[in-house]
Amino acid sequence: MERQLIHPMGETYHEYLKDESKMRGAADSISFPESEAQIGSILQVMREKRMPVTIQGGKTGVVGSAVPSKGHIMNLSHMNQVKSFCIAEGGEAFLKVEPGITLNELRKAIDRLATPEAFFWPPDPSESTATVGGIASTDAVILNWDKTLLSSMVNPKICWTFIWVEKGCMVSSLS
Ligand SMILES: Cc1cc2nc3c(=O)[nH]c(=O)nc-3n(C[C@H](O)[C@H](O)[C@H](O)COP(=O)(O)OP(=O)(O)OC[C@H]3O[C@@H](n4cnc5c(N)ncnc54)[C@H](O)[C@@H]3O)c2cc1C
Repeated sequence: MERQLIHPMGETYHEYLKDESKMRGAADSISFPESEAQIGSILQVMREKRMPVTIQGGKTGVVGSAVPSKGHIMNLSHMNQVKSFCIAEGGEAFLKVEPGITLNELRKAIDRLATPEAFFWPPDPSESTATVGGIASTDAVILNWDKTLLSSMVNPKICWTFIWVEKGCMVSSLS
């Protein structure tokens, strides 16, 4: 498993040592999980090795929070699928997505939904390669020039999250 999922850092992965803050970090290894099961397995290995794990979405953050200081990088960009879609009785639309889906990919997926009504996802930090996981984690918002809130807060738009805990198992949380 380790050989397939966990890659030693090398020249190939140097771009993952920084984000839009331009800070540069250090790490021993990196992974690009494609499923929940893979996330669980990788976290278990890192726990056994007592390695800190830095999660990365789109790496568009400007404060260096996706920059590792050591240990392992788990980059979620390969988990970018829409899992399901439904419209509730009240007319609200619900999408279940993987955390690495970018704003760009999400907009295209919503546009492809064959529904009589048009839907959109309001939270928009203006950088379309930001991921839903990163947007949720930073509670990204967009401000007008006078610092009034332009796009709505993220968290009221997210009703259910699945959270991985250190020992490699998943818990769910209702917002
Ligand atoms: C040109 C530009 C304009 C921007 N404009 C705005 C703006 O208007 N408003 C604003 O709020 N921000 C803005 N940002 C900052 C940035 O786009 C947001 O913070 C965005 O939400 C980060 O998303 P990301 O996927 O790139 O996350 P990353 O940068 O990859 O990660 C950010 C943080 O989220 C954590 N994280 C990422 N994914 C997950 C996950 N699945 N689970 C748990 N933790 C996770 C990371 O560990 C890290 O701590 C801008 C950035 C740029 C470059």
